Amino acid sequence: DPLQLDGYESLESIGSGSYGLIRKVKRKEDGKILARKEIDYRKMSTKEKEQLVSEVNILKDLKHPNIVEFLERVIDRENCFIYILMEYCEGGDLASVIRRHKELLVHIGEEFIWSIMTQLVLALHECHCGMVINPDTKQATPRLILHRDLKPDNVFLDAKKNVKLGDFGLSRSLTNSQRTFAQTYVGTPFYMSPELISDSLYDTKSDIWSLGCVVFEMCALEPPFLADTQEELSAKIKLGRIPMLPPQYSQELNNVVRAMIQVNPRKRPSTGDLLANPRIKIISMQLE
Ligand code: ADP
Ligand code: MG
Repeated sequence: DPLQLDGYESLESIGSGSYGLIRKVKRKEDGKILARKEIDYRKMSTKEKEQLVSEVNILKDLKHPNIVEFLERVIDRENCFIYILMEYCEGGDLASVIRRHKELLVHIGEEFIWSIMTQLVLALHECHCGMVINPDTKQATPRLILHRDLKPDNVFLDAKKNVKLGDFGLSRSLTNSQRTFAQTYVGTPFYMSPELISDSLYDTKSDIWSLGCVVFEMCALEPPFLADTQEELSAKIKLGRIPMLPPQYSQELNNVVRAMIQVNPRKRPSTGDLLANPRIKIISMQLE
């Protein structure tokens, strides 16, 4: 609908994604700044289009203070563009925060790391365990959404440094028959869990592994597993041995990170287990 498109003034581009540009836009009716993902679907395969529709549907249903808010979707059939309008996160992404600290040779404060981790746990908890209410039957059923591409580039920050988990491009909402696993995985190899390398099942615990890797990287300013070749990387991940965090970080933080980065998925904590961690519990109570 061109009228809806007319409702926004285009500003500068803020990122380029796998689908296309992310642009800052201003909503004319109230001057609010939003982010717009601009997706050219002309060259997309059926599979890619399906993936896109799935991202849109996932975002539409997910409402949580730590998940990027989806506002609307505009289809421009004439030019084959889909626009996804979402909350603008002016604090940028976590990858940039890590990069800046690395360049300046300063570590990220432990308080900040616990706060980011807690908010990511809350966001994942909503994905893994949140309830959805069927508008017709008014019945609540559990949702099961796997993020599948949790990494610092996909963790956004708003003006108040609140965490907003975004980029659900590869996530998949599982139906009952697929409950415990979903096999296709296309993500960043640095954060890929051992079970995915061995070509087995992706489940909520694979997101937990990635979360462990993100927290590790916030502390060490580099991912836990680094290698020059894919084979070497796979071997390291399957071994699952990670270095100690830099000495300024507490034993408690080391313990949580180590618990999440365990080769056996069943041994990793669930989001529920993590929310019971005393430190995480206190921070999540303060957030409410
Ligand atoms: P891709 O699927 O290509 O990775 P993303 O959704 O991760 O696309 O967006 C790419 C980059 O654009 C992000 O890493 C981030 O820097 C920026 N970006 C995306 N969405 C927003 C947003 N809502 N607010 C601010 N920046 C964003
Ligand atoms: Mg991304």
